[in-house]
Amino acid sequence: MYVKGVGPARAAMLEAKGLLTVEDLLYYPPFRYEDRRNVKPVSALAPGEMATVIAEVRSARLAGFQRRNLGMFQATFADGSGARLIGKWFHGGYLQSVITPGLKIALYGKIEIDSYTGDLVTLHPEFEILSEEDEDAEAALHLGRIVPIYEAPGKLTTRLMRTIVYRALERVSPVEDHLPAGIRQHLKLRDFWPAIVETHFPPADADVRLLNAFRSPAQFRLIFEEFFWLECGLALKRSRARLEQGISFDLNDRVREKIRAMLPFKPTGAQKRVLKEIAEDMAAPRPMNRLLQGDVGSGKTLVAAEAAIIAIENDYQVAVLAPTEILAGQHHFYFKNLFTKLGYIVALLTGSSTQREKTQIKKLVAAGMVHVLIGTHAVIEADVEFYRLGLAVIDEQHRFGVVQRLRLVQKGVHPDVLVMTATPIPRTLALTIYGDLDTSVIDELPPGRKPVVTKHVSEDRIEQVYSFVKKQVEAGRQAYVVYPVIEESETRATKAAQKMHKHLSETVFPGIAVGLLHGRLSSEEKEAVMDLFKRGEVKILVTTTVIEVGVDVPNATVMVIEHAERFGLAQLHQLRGRVGRGSTQSYCILVTGKLNESGRERIRTMVDSTDGFHIAEMDLKLRGPGEFFGTKQSGLPVLRFGNILRDQEVLEVAQREAASFVEHPPSAEELKRAVQYIRDHWQRRYGLVQVG
Ligand code: ADP
Ligand code: MG
Repeated sequence: MYVKGVGPARAAMLEAKGLLTVEDLLYYPPFRYEDRRNVKPVSALAPGEMATVIAEVRSARLAGFQRRNLGMFQATFADGSGARLIGKWFHGGYLQSVITPGLKIALYGKIEIDSYTGDLVTLHPEFEILSEEDEDAEAALHLGRIVPIYEAPGKLTTRLMRTIVYRALERVSPVEDHLPAGIRQHLKLRDFWPAIVETHFPPADADVRLLNAFRSPAQFRLIFEEFFWLECGLALKRSRARLEQGISFDLNDRVREKIRAMLPFKPTGAQKRVLKEIAEDMAAPRPMNRLLQGDVGSGKTLVAAEAAIIAIENDYQVAVLAPTEILAGQHHFYFKNLFTKLGYIVALLTGSSTQREKTQIKKLVAAGMVHVLIGTHAVIEADVEFYRLGLAVIDEQHRFGVVQRLRLVQKGVHPDVLVMTATPIPRTLALTIYGDLDTSVIDELPPGRKPVVTKHVSEDRIEQVYSFVKKQVEAGRQAYVVYPVIEESETRATKAAQKMHKHLSETVFPGIAVGLLHGRLSSEEKEAVMDLFKRGEVKILVTTTVIEVGVDVPNATVMVIEHAERFGLAQLHQLRGRVGRGSTQSYCILVTGKLNESGRERIRTMVDSTDGFHIAEMDLKLRGPGEFFGTKQSGLPVLRFGNILRDQEVLEVAQREAASFVEHPPSAEELKRAVQYIRDHWQRRYGLVQVG
């Protein structure tokens, strides 16, 4: 459809934001509202308040700023109330041709008083030029009302976005309401179309505070609806999965005997409990879809090994998928250790296996000669075929997407799936991302573990850290020294690590074996270094974050993290999880340079807490859900109105309503309609691969 004012150039800018259709525009809500019903005269402004002012530009100039020429742009505004307001913009040179004398402008910003001149000032206010379209019939859109503020893409102004949305709304006919009528009535929800209109252009008597808290009746309705369909989709998926024919593993005495023979230590209470949950799922005639959550070091791998035995003793194969080669290698080592005495064949397949190895392993797997295949993405490639895949274990699931999970699962006939993650996921997020999985939690560490003591040390006192490391090594322990890697520049981190390795091995710790591990090494080289470290021949391991997940050397008791301020909380927690794996007291030392606000917050969180859940929650708060889970791959649904963090309580209401709707639909007809609607409109967006 054609919207007046949107030519090819503007269409391209909209497109860059994912706004392709009129519908997209309507589902692109304002992120803030400004109350321009009651604009303040300049003379009535009070310092400290956030205010909207409509005034004329009297003068404007670009000034140098002190010695450094920062190009401060300064404009004086007046509105006939007798007082004047000065707007200031640093690096504002570009405004010279924008804010020119005579223009009428709406300003929104924090009002302050210049202590020298006594002038009212506002720094970097938001502004909107009003005069050019004063004659326009649409001028009333921008003044004398609550106006929506959009994140305007590209060079579009928020004013233009507002106009475009308004015209789009005018042109389309109201869209039908799809929410089941019973739910609408019961929750007294606003109807769909008025909710859309009012979210963009709130009525004259709307409550701006509610709007800016995203809790106006119109916004609530739209947020609720988004969560409702998502939760319905998940509920349908779950109930469908319960009907599927899966493998019913036999839990006989032989299985129990094998597990007993394998166990290197007494499982913790939590491990026993989750194994029971898993075993019951595996025995049931429907496919297991279970998430095993447990903090780093809680012993998830052991539980996975027990589950693997159940499958293998029933003549099925097991696949273990890990996100990195190091972690795959670790699992391979771990499983081989446990399983060789049981006579099971364990194989490793990664991207850096040679062509010959790959061919060989694939043949064995297809022939059913390999009991456990462990590997990275290489395992889910199309040409990997299993003879009889019965259990798929996916470690660190948040690094894989729904699609990859499915690809592995499709290598068997409804195999059981065990997903493991050390990223403790706050409850509401778990509902959303892993809503189609049942959950088991290991909430207990193996006995004798002492919480890791975490210290923050400024980099100018690094010598003290080194002498501490030396003492620990002399006492027979081992240490990691980690250098940060920013995803794009493993090269630079490698260089830093190489340099430090030289410095540490030659100058700081002469006579102590210092190893080096980084992402640029071949996998044999990596394995060789890890092997030396594991055997205790290398005492200090200098490394980049390739070490982050899963590495398990209980004798390592010191984790020194350099430039710790450059790491995110989740990463720091993962890194710290590499120590404290034995019964000896372990230490994590966070070395930093100067800290900014958020860096300080992160370091403080780490020093104060070893609780993965608390840390994850802080991380989520500091970074928001998008970044928390990295890419879209994570399976985090793309939401337009709802925000999982901000709208937790709405999500919970939606989940309740969805569950009861799916379990007790008002009529078969209505459920059918809902399923169809989800299929048509929401399935792809939510990554709900098969619904209903
Ligand atoms: P996770 O994968 O949950 O981070 P791991 O499975 O790597 O944790 O286990 C961490 C360490 O604890 C490993 O060295 C493992 O052998 C050990 N471990 C696991 N379970 C127990 C237990 N019940 N008793 C003692 N040590 C255990
Ligand atoms: Mg693990």
